[in-house]
Amino acid sequence: MKYRTLVLLTFLAAPALSAQLKPVPAPNAADRANVERLERSLAHDSMEGRGTATLGSTKAARFLANEMKKVGLVSAGDSGFYQRVPMFMPLPRPADTSAAGRGNTNPVPGGRGGTRVITAPRAPDPEACQPRDSRGGSLYPAQKTAYDSLMRMYLARAARGDTIDSLPVGGRGRGGAPGGGGRGAQAPVARPTRLPSLADLDTVPMERRRNAVNVVGMIPGSDPVLKNEVILVLSHYDHLGMRAPATPGGDSVFNGADDDAAGTVAVLEIARLLKKSGSPKRTIVFANMTGEETGLIGTNWFIAHPAFPLTQIVAGFEIEMIGRPDSLAGGPGKAWLTGYERSTMGDMLKQYGIAIVPDVRPTQSFFTRSDNIGLARRGIVAHTLSTFNLHTDYHQLSDDVDKVDFDHMTAVIHSGAEAVRHLADGPKPEWHTGCSPQAPAQGGRGAGGR
Ligand SMILES: [Zn+2]
Repeated sequence: MKYRTLVLLTFLAAPALSAQLKPVPAPNAADRANVERLERSLAHDSMEGRGTATLGSTKAARFLANEMKKVGLVSAGDSGFYQRVPMFMPLPRPADTSAAGRGNTNPVPGGRGGTRVITAPRAPDPEACQPRDSRGGSLYPAQKTAYDSLMRMYLARAARGDTIDSLPVGGRGRGGAPGGGGRGAQAPVARPTRLPSLADLDTVPMERRRNAVNVVGMIPGSDPVLKNEVILVLSHYDHLGMRAPATPGGDSVFNGADDDAAGTVAVLEIARLLKKSGSPKRTIVFANMTGEETGLIGTNWFIAHPAFPLTQIVAGFEIEMIGRPDSLAGGPGKAWLTGYERSTMGDMLKQYGIAIVPDVRPTQSFFTRSDNIGLARRGIVAHTLSTFNLHTDYHQLSDDVDKVDFDHMTAVIHSGAEAVRHLADGPKPEWHTGCSPQAPAQGGRGAGGR
């Protein structure tokens, strides 16, 4: 058979075949050169570590909006691709020189100066939603024992008169800018703080207003019914910014090549691939959030001011730290999904042959440590895809682009694009009974950042 006829037949047969196997048009292959271009731009020193509400993050946001435009997304912010997040720089509080202040190694942001506030431990989730450890054993008994002893301590302290904060904590203190804890009479570091509304910006002197934005674009759905359902694909583009170099001329930029420039690149490349492979049935919103490292500020603002009513968002798919392979997930090209056991999303994607496995380090509670948890606590089935292998460059100046494995990252992005295509055109994921995380208490905070 002449080569040309063979190609034609294959070309004609291929879609029919994939239609049987995969009922949706598979996106073209992720483009390694484009992935590298985007990653090297975002993790470059000129982005100044993309600290929230800094010039560096403004540069990054401009770059991202421009890329979304180039890909052909429809803008979905309140100002083009930008969703403005009102922030200001509070006046630094004077160092608390009182005995209580000096002894207090862990001042709580927003807490009363020098007062030690204790928080209630969070009850472990039902056993049915708990991931299995490497030997297949349940983590629940250990978590329950830990919870019981923490609760006993909490109640004893409350009885002793310590100031209690009844709102359970979710990871605060593990993210955020370095230098939060004070030793001796150090003035707490003033950092950009979110205002309740855009209108409140007018109450702040101009010089203390800070520019912060989420970058949001979308591909409208084509199905007359399903177009009203939304898949939210997100990452956080902010990182830790800069600090004074330890030695003259030393490194001063937290480039955050893995955290989370890698996930932000994935969102852009997935948008490009989905845009090229035919309009999806459901609407897909692509969002690069700000303020994750300082407490999910951008995501919480998006949740309070969503591009679509939260009830229309049927799934959240976050990508976080996919720059390096994780041997526990099976090595290069393989990724894990946080909270896999909680909903049908993981198994559904696996059935389509996508290289995704359950979270390989369940004791790290990654499910509650990134933007997805803000959405999940509002009932939206939301998980994070990652290949973070606990490398020691995490939140260090050394999280640089020369440590990124672009073949691995490109392969994971391709899996991500396939996953989003199925979420947009296939069945929507559902929580397993009793496995959607507890909604935050009224006025409660979201979780902390990673
Ligand atoms: Zn991160």
